[in-house]
Amino acid sequence: TRNGRSPDEIIELRRELLLPNLSISYDRPIKFVRGDGVWLIDDGGRAYLDCFNNVCHIGHTHPAVVEAMAKQAGTLNTNTRYLHDNIVAYAERLTETLPKDLTVVGFVNSGSEANSLALRMMRAHTGRENAIVLDWSYHGTTQELIEISPYKFRRKGGTGPKSHVHIAPVPDGYRAPETWREEEYGTRFAESVRDLLAIMKSNGENPGFFIAESIPSVAGQVVLPEGYLREVYELVREAGGVCIADEVQVGFGRVGSHWWGFETQGVVPDIVTMGKPIGDGHPMGATVTKREIAESFNNGMEYFNTFGGNPVSCAVGLAVLDVIERDKLRDNAVAIGKYLIDGFGDLQARYEVIGDVRGLGLFLGIELVTDRATKTPATRFAHAVCNGARRRGVLLGTEGPFDNVLKMRPPMIFSKGNADHLISVLDETFADVTRTLA
Ligand code: PMP
Repeated sequence: TRNGRSPDEIIELRRELLLPNLSISYDRPIKFVRGDGVWLIDDGGRAYLDCFNNVCHIGHTHPAVVEAMAKQAGTLNTNTRYLHDNIVAYAERLTETLPKDLTVVGFVNSGSEANSLALRMMRAHTGRENAIVLDWSYHGTTQELIEISPYKFRRKGGTGPKSHVHIAPVPDGYRAPETWREEEYGTRFAESVRDLLAIMKSNGENPGFFIAESIPSVAGQVVLPEGYLREVYELVREAGGVCIADEVQVGFGRVGSHWWGFETQGVVPDIVTMGKPIGDGHPMGATVTKREIAESFNNGMEYFNTFGGNPVSCAVGLAVLDVIERDKLRDNAVAIGKYLIDGFGDLQARYEVIGDVRGLGLFLGIELVTDRATKTPATRFAHAVCNGARRRGVLLGTEGPFDNVLKMRPPMIFSKGNADHLISVLDETFADVTRTLA
């Protein structure tokens, strides 16, 4: 047929040909055949509003990206041991978006590779292995990254924490102990890291690094409490560890007010890792660090990455930064993010099930609870909303330790009209699910 195989045939072939532990989104899987801005179009020609994908940062099939990619692919693509303008032009542009000490770039091809490279830099610089990670975090797909990802090693198929990995609680203000005052959340949660460091010290161990997403996403779109990273970074550095910011999901202006999520916490990491949105869908990643750490990493062993930083990828990366700046997409993220938070707040006033509304810029979450006092997770409700929105042509996801947080990361070009569309579909779906799950 014009649109290729039917969804059922594809499901059958996936079963036969692909690794069995790769899931498919939704009760009723969708076959997409085309993307256009905020829209994904299925095999029947139906358009879905994409509020979830994160990767299509400036919109699906953005013409500036497609053109830059095609033009460079039609001219030259080769490895980075030859001289080319693009790699230095892109490294220059990328580091311009970062605090002044973060000046040295390693180009890779995915978020996992970016974190993997960060760990190699860390080891070369500190000679240490010990990790402090946030609970329920995910940092990538290689064995060593699974080992620092409680989201994986603490769940089915995982084998628990290795002895060098220390887990700090998710600094989630919504689920903070009731006796804590809101102003002290940052300090209180930082104290849990202080405690871990004390335990390590008493065992004669030293931390190699602390890694966290600047807005813990897999943990449920948790906006870090004011002051948290400042205090944690200070503690970790005092003990000789390095601080790594995983910006794979939240980076590239998604928070709106800043280019990078960590900036909202007033800190400068030692290493920043990037992926997903960096190439608007083109597979790329980057690890950026300080000169001092880059020099430690330069220990005689070459770091060469066959595809990382190739002329095509760098052309794409440049196009993405150009569009974010030219079209003032960070300002858009601030304005539309605020509009959405306000809209979600109105829904919260009408639907008891909405326990918390949170986010920065276009990185948003709605936490659902069966009871606002006990905060019992409304997981079934969240899944029903996700599938209900899908039936109404809106894509979003669920996330968090209880899988009860609706997760939204729409493209940075999301308009007020798109926001109204999302809010009205959520309204309709909440009303429907409230009736049917009651
Ligand atoms: N870090 C975070 C925070 C992520 O969400 C992901 C991917 N979900 C990764 C790292 C790994 O990125 P990739 O899948 O591109 O290897």
